[in-house]
Amino acid sequence: MKRFLLLVLSLAITVFGMALVGCQPSTQPSHEHIWETTYSSDNFSHWIKCEGCDEVKDIADHNLQNSDTCSVCGTTTVPTEGVTYKIVEQVAQVTGYTGDSDKVRIAATYQGKPVTAINSYAFQEYFDKKITAVYIPNSVTTIGGGAFSGCAKLEKVSLGSSITSIGASAFADCSELTDIVLPNTVTSIGAGAFANCSNLTSVSIPDSVTSFGDIVFMNCEKFQFNVYEGLNYVGNSNNPYLVLTDIPSAIQFNSSFNLHNDTKVFASNLFSGCGEITTLDLPDSLIAIPDCTFMQCQELKTITIPSSVKSVGNFAFSQCSALESIYVPDSVTSVGTQVFEHCENLKTVTLPANATYVGNVFNDCPNIVNLTAPFEVFDSLLSFDKEKMESVTFNSGDTISAYSFNGCDALTSVIIPSSVTTIESHAFDGCNNAKIYCEVDSKPDGWKNSWNNDCPVYYYSENEPTTDGNYWRYVNGEVVIWE
Ligand SMILES: [Zn+2]
Ligand SMILES: [Zn+2]
Repeated sequence: MKRFLLLVLSLAITVFGMALVGCQPSTQPSHEHIWETTYSSDNFSHWIKCEGCDEVKDIADHNLQNSDTCSVCGTTTVPTEGVTYKIVEQVAQVTGYTGDSDKVRIAATYQGKPVTAINSYAFQEYFDKKITAVYIPNSVTTIGGGAFSGCAKLEKVSLGSSITSIGASAFADCSELTDIVLPNTVTSIGAGAFANCSNLTSVSIPDSVTSFGDIVFMNCEKFQFNVYEGLNYVGNSNNPYLVLTDIPSAIQFNSSFNLHNDTKVFASNLFSGCGEITTLDLPDSLIAIPDCTFMQCQELKTITIPSSVKSVGNFAFSQCSALESIYVPDSVTSVGTQVFEHCENLKTVTLPANATYVGNVFNDCPNIVNLTAPFEVFDSLLSFDKEKMESVTFNSGDTISAYSFNGCDALTSVIIPSSVTTIESHAFDGCNNAKIYCEVDSKPDGWKNSWNNDCPVYYYSENEPTTDGNYWRYVNGEVVIWE
């Protein structure tokens, strides 16, 4: 009985299966298509139609370089009515949309000015406006924060070829968006730019990207990250590991993990709060340490910044209370504000001579003992942070201001570079234990007579001095006094 049932069942499956095959739409056309020789088009795309049926082929967006007319089909496109613009100096910006069309083409020029930006929240969805497609001209370089956030019907975004910056949350909550092509002009993608795009499957990130916010693809459930040792990366076919986007919580509390060495960009806040990391090998193609990267990594003891890095962002190492020494290489040209705020155990710091310092590098770092930095960095320290300093080497700066060393009781050694042409009166008053080593061979005219009242001063002499006075020289990079 059982066997019979089985036979009936398998027969039924076979018949049903055949019936299914029979129901498949035929892949063979009922006639040989006769393709029209000219393109059909609307305001957005063109295609070739069959004369004998509804079939179309070669459908594509219009190819507009810097004109309104498609170079493929010859159609002249028109900007969609209802897009609002404003002129700011020599350019125009998109401010909003009040039209009825669900497909929107943005003008390349407005009142003779190039349209260069889509302003923040310009298309953020209000009420029942439901745009499905937006075509952005090549004149636009900037998409503001939240510009298309909440456009829940938006399926098609043509970004043009000149976009450099995509603002925070620009496409957040665009739940119908499945893909988007970023031109290789994009340098910056803001925080949460594609957050909650629940149907987004992948985005190719161009090599031009240098700045990447956090939670860019948060809650993108279908998104395919490139995973390496449990960490999520995005990139392109040449470098799938271009950007490290986030550290999953399962890994956050590990004391060490390996990063892919091809990574050039870290998302902001990347390791912030990774409480157990003690050290980390950074990829030697990394270009920046963004804002808050290691904030609150309270066990982080040592880290080497590779010489590929060009900038260190705001608060990058703030509250790294176990960090004892840091060397920021000369490749770094920009250092943010409060980079080392509340690094209570930081003792030895070397900062690049020729970087731009955005604000106070330190704040509440009471245990710095050795500092090598431009004078401006030292000068911006509160006296509280200078109290325990034993040696200071200035690697750039032209002026040392009055009373700069007030309260530096522990200081025993100061090196002043030859770039310092001015020292104000009383600059070294109050540092009673220091020896001052000048890289010049005698007092420059710009150093006030009362620049130093208390400390012994040594001038530089490469060869054994023939005159009286205090002299020193470098031997293997160390200070050696001529006795
Ligand atoms: Zn046909
Ligand atoms: Zn066309």
